[in-house]
Amino acid sequence: MAGMPRALLISTYDLGHQPFGLASPAAWLRRGGAEVACADLSKQKLDEEQVRAADVIAFHLPMHTATRMASGVIRKVREINPHARIAAYGLYAPINAEWLRSLGVADLFGAEFEAGLTRLVCGSVPADAVARESAPMTGARHTARTTVPRLQFIPPDRTGLLPLARYATLRMPDGTTRVAGYTEASRGCRHLCRHCPVVPIYGGQFRVVPGHVVLADVRAQVDAGAQHITFGDPDFFNGPRHALQVVQALRTAHPHLTYDVTIKIEHLLRHRDLLPTLRDTGCLFITSAVESIDDRVLEILDKGHTRADFVAAVTLCRDAGVPLVPTFVAFHPWITMVGYCELLTTLTRLDLIAHVAPIQLAIRLLIPSGSRLLEHPDLAPHLRGFERRTLTHLWQHPDPEVDRLQADVAALVGRTLTGSRRELFGAIAALASSRAGVAMPSSGHAGEDAGIPQFDEPWYCCAEPNPEQLTLV
Ligand code: SF4
Repeated sequence: MAGMPRALLISTYDLGHQPFGLASPAAWLRRGGAEVACADLSKQKLDEEQVRAADVIAFHLPMHTATRMASGVIRKVREINPHARIAAYGLYAPINAEWLRSLGVADLFGAEFEAGLTRLVCGSVPADAVARESAPMTGARHTARTTVPRLQFIPPDRTGLLPLARYATLRMPDGTTRVAGYTEASRGCRHLCRHCPVVPIYGGQFRVVPGHVVLADVRAQVDAGAQHITFGDPDFFNGPRHALQVVQALRTAHPHLTYDVTIKIEHLLRHRDLLPTLRDTGCLFITSAVESIDDRVLEILDKGHTRADFVAAVTLCRDAGVPLVPTFVAFHPWITMVGYCELLTTLTRLDLIAHVAPIQLAIRLLIPSGSRLLEHPDLAPHLRGFERRTLTHLWQHPDPEVDRLQADVAALVGRTLTGSRRELFGAIAALASSRAGVAMPSSGHAGEDAGIPQFDEPWYCCAEPNPEQLTLV
């Protein structure tokens, strides 16, 4: 590459956030002397001039949906600019290495991708930018047995990204809205839940982003209009002391800023004494990947909590004044018709209907390449082979009625994504109740939905949309 190297960073989908996965590497590449353009294809058209001008075109693949959506775009950019080097980075790049290479992707970076990407585009990284490098990734199957590099993080650079107001906003119970930003105070996770996409890449490791870097990123977003910040850490309490320092500093610097975090049930119970501090520093709600209320399934997923722990966490959060927003893998090979009704009944009895985004009640277990769940013997009888088109291991429920219910619940949710949560819950409950022949408690009336802040991006919170239902603009 003669002269200043030119990179184009592309995001295809990031759950309604302004893409952090473009802003962070953009800062590294600009520091390294590159000219960087960013394109968020969930909001803007692919600019052919940008594609033609780029020496390196890198796709951020933080989730399954983004990966599937990238395939058509990769083909298109190769047509427009056959000389550009194509790279992919993020959680889903290494686990889909073979498929990405077949599309012409030459370079793949998984965990802590900024240094590798900078070396690719700029030729080198500053000597102090990486404390320890992982072994180079060569094969199609990344094992996560390597040590994740320790990067010296720098504040993301959001220059060239669309304004925050173009992204998901938070609708408050009083009808007002808050412009939302997104940052990360840590990466990776200490835990090894079998179905989790973080695990094949981080393998139980997590990395702390220094407080001053987090605060600089928050300040930049507040200056750009953010009134609320989502912390996208896989688990905010992997490093509870660090987390507390960050939110206390946040409160001092921005007394009116609110935020939300994701914390696993096990950590909510262990660090229950910290919940009032979260509330006092502006935390509006805590998302938690509960996944199931069946202890056998929780054991298979290696979630580290039980149904009783979940119920206890709901009470703890409620008592602390920070609502719990549970997410679920509602359909998996071990759910029964009665079990699904039991899930809905439990949510009703725990008064959580307004807390749960309806899409959560339609989620079907997704098994990407490299999933630790594939090691579990209880999954084997249900597997039907890897499907290259969807990049997942297919599975079939032993009771076809359960698969039919899932498809019908998904269709119901898809038709009314932005409607009242309680009304939609009622419709799902009626459907499940009639199919299973199980009586269910009343789910109440739509007017009772007040109380929980909600993002206006209906897929928000761990759920991923079906790529066929999204249209690139
Ligand atoms: S599901 Fe949550 S706690 Fe479990 S490994 Fe993934 S990020 Fe960590």
